[in-house]
Amino acid sequence: MEPKKDYHMTPEAFRLYGRALVDWIADYYERVEDLPVLSRVKPGEIRERLPKDPPEQGEPFEKIMKDLDEVILPGITHWQSPNFFAYFPANASGPSILGELLSAGLGVQGMLWSTSPACTELETHVLDWMADMLALPRKFRSDGAGGGVIQDTASSASLCALLSARERITGYRTNERGCDGRLTAYVSTQTHSSVEKAVKIAGMGREQLRAVAVDETFAMDPKALGEAIGRDRDAGLVPCFVCATVGTTSSNALDPLREIGRICRDEGLWLHVDGAMSGTAALCPEFRHILDGLELADSFCFNPHKWMFTNFDCDCFYVADREVLIRTLSILPEYLKNKATESGAVIDYRDWHVPLGRRFRALKLWFVIRHYGVEGLRYHIRRHVAMAREFAGWVEAAEDFELAAPVPLNLVCFRHLAGDEFNRMLLDRLNESGSLFLTHTTLDDRFVLRLCVAQTRTEERHVEEAWRLIRETARELAAEEK
Ligand SMILES: *Cc1c(COP(=O)(O)O)cnc(C)c1O
Repeated sequence: MEPKKDYHMTPEAFRLYGRALVDWIADYYERVEDLPVLSRVKPGEIRERLPKDPPEQGEPFEKIMKDLDEVILPGITHWQSPNFFAYFPANASGPSILGELLSAGLGVQGMLWSTSPACTELETHVLDWMADMLALPRKFRSDGAGGGVIQDTASSASLCALLSARERITGYRTNERGCDGRLTAYVSTQTHSSVEKAVKIAGMGREQLRAVAVDETFAMDPKALGEAIGRDRDAGLVPCFVCATVGTTSSNALDPLREIGRICRDEGLWLHVDGAMSGTAALCPEFRHILDGLELADSFCFNPHKWMFTNFDCDCFYVADREVLIRTLSILPEYLKNKATESGAVIDYRDWHVPLGRRFRALKLWFVIRHYGVEGLRYHIRRHVAMAREFAGWVEAAEDFELAAPVPLNLVCFRHLAGDEFNRMLLDRLNESGSLFLTHTTLDDRFVLRLCVAQTRTEERHVEEAWRLIRETARELAAEEK
């Protein structure tokens, strides 16, 4: 179809190509498990296949679609493959993709309630749903003093939590005069690096961040936390923020929220709880113990874009006292003033995160929850955990492998007994095979393989095949070494 004179895509052409693209995605999902999971291109290879200059004249959509297959797809690492066991997942699903498409179609910029009331109100409502679905303490709901907001990522949520902590403890003076270098923040040695980044962005200084020791399960040691806070107070510093993690990225360790929370309450520190992947498990009553003590926290976040079938980006961030967050981030230039805001009867989410503009992300989350229902979401979370535990059982039963950390949920950290170098070679060979994708970490200074079961379409047979391949490849390697 030729573009019309005004260069726009006509509604008819949009229908035609829109359907073709949806078909392409559906076909992709049908074949994705047969594609090599990890992209095999070399650095620069994709750019080499792209024309040096942009097209002067518009091109037919068919030509763009052709390049999708020939140029782009080889450079894709297939995060949506059921054989993707690396990092933590970034999973998607039919309803979330359609919600995303609709968000693009409406093209709403929801910075203020008045710039699209549905964008704000659906978000508030769905985040209250989510709070109930995870059985979060009531204070995180919007009908109390708190409330939830969708952020792009857990990194942004941590930053907003840290900024709020900084302002609360300084009586909002840091916003006016800058940091005096006395504020300190606390994480564990296993906390995600995004908190260190937040400390840098917030101007608190990386030297003011304390990495507290962990116990043998890699969970934060509350006693060590209390001691670190005491030392800083003695030195005339101002302890202000603790980040506890529910499901650390390295090994899925669960920090003891209740004990950490008591310390924060007694010492007047802001407690942020990062449940980026594992928070989703609280959908199931039998896993809710992971959030035990959350009522002592000031903020909490988890990522439906990791383990709740909602495509990137979607982080749910909750605060117990929204006034602190809003006072920390609020700005009101003349050109944004409006009656609804002045009435005080509405939420303006631009004051709840770093950017001004915001997408209609609640749509995809709403689609996912309505499509699966709480029951459907629980079903998949339970299956993932069951598969991971079964895999852990196989590792334990094998004479040449061992578990490297407890398996509270859906991440298995394990290693071959033949040492770091062997495990490194094993990982490379497995990933080169294209049949699966695993990543590694170090625990107690040892090289460890990680297998995370959380991809939307991962089934028993994929996990069984992964274990078969891991064992067979290890045997081959061991034979070659002799
Ligand atoms: C993945 C992860 C993050 C960072 O996630 P983003 O949403 O990409 O910022 C933070 N914390 C934990 C525990 C994670 O697993």
